[in-house]
Amino acid sequence: MFAAYIATAIGGMTLASLPPGNLTVFWLPAGIGVAVLLVLGRRGTVVVAAASFTANGLMMGDQGQVLLATALSAAVDSLQSWLGWSLLRRHWDNLVGAPVHDPRRLRGLASICLIPPLATVWLLPLIHDLARTAGPLTLHAFLERTLMLLLADTSGLFLVVPVVVGFSAGWPAMRLPAALALLAVAQVAVSAIDPLLAPLALLGLALMAFIFQFPGAAAGNLVCATVMVVQAAFDLGPLRGQGTAQAIVVLNLTIVGVGIAVLYMGLLQDEQHRMRATLRDEVERRTRQLEERSRALAASNGELEQFAYIISHDLRQPLRMIASYVKLLDTRLKERLAADEQDFFEYVRSGASRMDQMLVSLLEYSRVGRSGEPMVETDCRAQLDEALQYLEPAIQDAQAEIRIEGVWPILTASPNEMVRLFQNLIGNAVKYRVADRAPLITVSARPTDGGWRFAVSDNGIGIDADQFDRLFKVFQRLHPAKYADGAGVGLAVCRKIVERHGGRIEVDSQPGQGSTFAFTLP
Ligand code: ADP
Repeated sequence: MFAAYIATAIGGMTLASLPPGNLTVFWLPAGIGVAVLLVLGRRGTVVVAAASFTANGLMMGDQGQVLLATALSAAVDSLQSWLGWSLLRRHWDNLVGAPVHDPRRLRGLASICLIPPLATVWLLPLIHDLARTAGPLTLHAFLERTLMLLLADTSGLFLVVPVVVGFSAGWPAMRLPAALALLAVAQVAVSAIDPLLAPLALLGLALMAFIFQFPGAAAGNLVCATVMVVQAAFDLGPLRGQGTAQAIVVLNLTIVGVGIAVLYMGLLQDEQHRMRATLRDEVERRTRQLEERSRALAASNGELEQFAYIISHDLRQPLRMIASYVKLLDTRLKERLAADEQDFFEYVRSGASRMDQMLVSLLEYSRVGRSGEPMVETDCRAQLDEALQYLEPAIQDAQAEIRIEGVWPILTASPNEMVRLFQNLIGNAVKYRVADRAPLITVSARPTDGGWRFAVSDNGIGIDADQFDRLFKVFQRLHPAKYADGAGVGLAVCRKIVERHGGRIEVDSQPGQGSTFAFTLP
């Protein structure tokens, strides 16, 4: 920092063609001063003061009043850098924290650019009188120097501050130095071919802002400006043939103009990256949340199933005992009981049997997916045939006609569950028939976009559309028991099987016309 400050101070004064004996107050390297304080904090003031003292001492040589003048100059440099730094800190949050299109950010940017020049302009006359090294202060000389200082400080701030702050904040990539070297070479090469082509290098600078965002823009600015300054000093490049002082004014104007544009471009890119990163973080956060929730849900589902299994399994034992003792009592007491007392016994017996049926169904429901049967290649048609075999007595009894249609696939599934699925659906189609109409049941399969669609249609009693939601829930029966006995669990089992296989089940029905239960499998 110390060396950089001295180099910038002496370099700046030499370029400005200030004769030996001038103080840095006529070319305050405010940019680097602010940068030093940004990186080192308050203690940076000591570095600035020491570096300024050394730089001024070196420039003054053996002229009179060396000690007083250099000390004063060092004090003013430090004061100005400190002023710039404290104002910058106040605006930094606006600059970095606000969205790029926010006017607060632009105001922040503008005020940062104006801090050191304004400080310089305010302090200049005072210093001038004190130092007495630049002759009497005419208005013309004052304006000329002020313009030079404004340009020098502004470009210094655009060039030096972003780079020093950026690198000290840890821009590590090696890609950036490599790209910067390439940029410098390109700039030299292009202006060597023809000085008029020099602006082409600015395209490379814009590219830096897009690829490396703000760090690229800041460092690219510095490299381009350095190349231009060196070219001007050796009377090369686009400003060839012009006087050094004029070249510096033109250069400063170019650097400031290009600097603002490129830095702003870099900021925009930064903003876009930040927004993308925020979005990505948000998506990741939500996904994690969702995963956690579905894990918790799966755990509580598992517990519920376990609970249902235990309840239905263990409750059957005492229930069976009740049923058999009621039967025993009934046999022993039959002769002695009045007719209505015999009815009471009958109620108890049928209640117990109904409860047992419900427990069996619940057990069956909770067993879906628990049997440990693996998913294997399953010939769906073979499972349908097996289900029909089990249903044969009921089909015969109802004189039902079964039609099988479509293309029947081989899928990865649980064979036993597939049999149960067909058995429940076709069993219902037979059960819920219209009394004086011969049941006609069509079972079909066909390929769809994402898998297969199976359907069981009947010409039975049908279901009201507003009851569809209830159908697939446990213990829900829509029709009175006179139609058929059952516990109201068959369709819940079907849904569980289908969903376990990654499919969906749905119903379509017209009361009095018939129903179609269809399910998909991937
Ligand atoms: P269960 O048949 O044991 O009552 P399900 O869960 O299989 O239980 O069916 C639930 C209810 O849906 C049945 O009680 C019946 O009212 C209705 N249902 C099911 N299948 C049909 C069908 N094919 N036609 C008309 N109603 C049906």
